[in-house]
Amino acid sequence: MTERFTGTFTQQEPIPEAGIAAALAVLQGGRLHRYNTVPGEIGEAALLEQEFAAYTGARYCLSVASGGYALATALRAVGVQPGDAVLTNAFTLAPVPGSIAAVGAVPVFVGVTEDLVIDLDDLAAKAGQARVLMLSHMRGHLCDMDRLMAICDAAGITVIEDCAHTMGASWNGVPSGRHGAVGCYSTQTYKHMNSGEGGLLVTDDEMVAARAVMLSGSYMLFDRHLAAPGPEAFARIKYETPNISGRMDNLRAAILRPQLRDIEAQIDRWNDRYRTVEAGLRNTPGLTVVERPAQERYVGSSIQFLLLDWAGAKVQDVVARCAARGVELKWFGAAEPVGFTSRYDSWRYAPSEQMPKSDRVLAGLLDMRLPLTFSLDDCALIARIIRAEVSAVWQAG
Ligand SMILES: *Cc1c(COP(=O)(O)O)cnc(C)c1O
Repeated sequence: MTERFTGTFTQQEPIPEAGIAAALAVLQGGRLHRYNTVPGEIGEAALLEQEFAAYTGARYCLSVASGGYALATALRAVGVQPGDAVLTNAFTLAPVPGSIAAVGAVPVFVGVTEDLVIDLDDLAAKAGQARVLMLSHMRGHLCDMDRLMAICDAAGITVIEDCAHTMGASWNGVPSGRHGAVGCYSTQTYKHMNSGEGGLLVTDDEMVAARAVMLSGSYMLFDRHLAAPGPEAFARIKYETPNISGRMDNLRAAILRPQLRDIEAQIDRWNDRYRTVEAGLRNTPGLTVVERPAQERYVGSSIQFLLLDWAGAKVQDVVARCAARGVELKWFGAAEPVGFTSRYDSWRYAPSEQMPKSDRVLAGLLDMRLPLTFSLDDCALIARIIRAEVSAVWQAG
């Protein structure tokens, strides 16, 4: 009998009961806007910021409307101007180069390695071309952050981290988002906490934090924040910083706070699923598992593997055969982006040259989500299906 998987790769868990109760309380109060508080009341958004700052060990935190908005706000807050060059990953998700385009700046793409991290040799070679790096920890893979920071510090480059897939991860014990000047996170449905849409930004830099609060649209009500700098910082920039509204509301923050309390347990559950699939895929001829360095604490909310140097038609065949058995793989080597764009040459508004080493990796790169609605048995079944189909195509030669 041919096994089939019948689960849904885009189905997340329900919002926890405590989140639903907190959301109902906000709805009953009618005060959804973050600054709509009665005397003595502290809004959910301000509390979320205080709790997320504590979780990451950051001095300041701002909640915003989306992860992409957090990225663009970080670029503005560190002083990126229209026309500036900004280094970023050649392999990431569209909102990352999009945030650079949003501020009128120009992405300079840095390659990806077989370990699926930014190519630090390529970064060192291009370090003279920009003063800011928008570093994306794409699909949760952390590069050698110590070496990256040494390269950037030596070149005077400010680092902004896109932690959309690394909320809760760390390198050498330092949380993702805390190596660079600013860390940005997404709370969109497919990330590690789910409020439909949403984003968080953390920093230790008081002026970056003050500018970010003003940019997000604080209507001079910045004293209602619990994780923002004092009035002196705002006094220096409040007349010069435009309002580019992108606040988070109390309803989303109410949904997120109970999820933040559970996040460590959720990470363990993700990693159990990740390791189950990884173990099932190991030693499949023709398939390369991505080894995770000991310094990295990852969150296995998705898994990637490589069919390196396979003909495109054969990779396509594997994708189709897995799909026929209910296993949804994304292939980053397809000629036409479908449903997402993740490759530098799909973003034609930004000039780029061919990057043969990165092209080789992306041509063989397959990716799969691991939602927590999957059981460990589901994960073992999924791995058996992939293994069987990769082996069948590989043996056909
Ligand atoms: C999801 C995501 C973002 C931000 O996404 P939003 O949808 O704007 O919240 C940024 N970078 C990566 C790599 C992502 O996957």
